[in-house]
Amino acid sequence: MKQLAYDKMVVAMLTDDTDYDGKFYVCVKTTGIYCIPSCKAKTPMLKNVVFLPSKKKAIAAGFRGCKRCRSEFYPDVHPKWWAKALEVMKKDLTRKISEKELAGISNVDISTIRRYFKTYMETTPMAFHRKLRLEYARILIEQGNDYLSTAYECGFESASGFRDAFIKQYGYTPGKLNGNRKDRL
Ligand SMILES: [Zn+2]
Repeated sequence: MKQLAYDKMVVAMLTDDTDYDGKFYVCVKTTGIYCIPSCKAKTPMLKNVVFLPSKKKAIAAGFRGCKRCRSEFYPDVHPKWWAKALEVMKKDLTRKISEKELAGISNVDISTIRRYFKTYMETTPMAFHRKLRLEYARILIEQGNDYLSTAYECGFESASGFRDAFIKQYGYTPGKLNGNRKDRL
């Protein structure tokens, strides 16, 4: 295997670049843990890090797998239902998906789904989906849709609920986005 350049590995680690997962492992001398480059755990100080090209080498050097990125299971890090649940949520942005429905689609109980979201996304499934719908709404408004119809289009039940969620996520009102449109200037 061709050895990657040191600074490329540093950048991959700092940017949590999933493209490098499996291509090298970040081993932290102070904790004795090895991670995949995209691990969301706190980034260690560079002087405490060694990059090793394989899991085998990391284990041979005495490092243990990380609970956060489940590096020892890489590339089978997540069960199949996880990718499916994320895919459904990313595609279905025009309505609110309930936890019950999500559990049905994934075929696992909702407490497992919640735990996964907490560990890997640091959020709840519903908050994650709301964030995606808000992002979709923001794009629609930027494209010229009025914000009231956008709210309903993106599965929000009321304009005020949409407005509050939008402000919370972006720090400004959806109306401001409308007002900032270039075609209005
Ligand atoms: Zn990790």
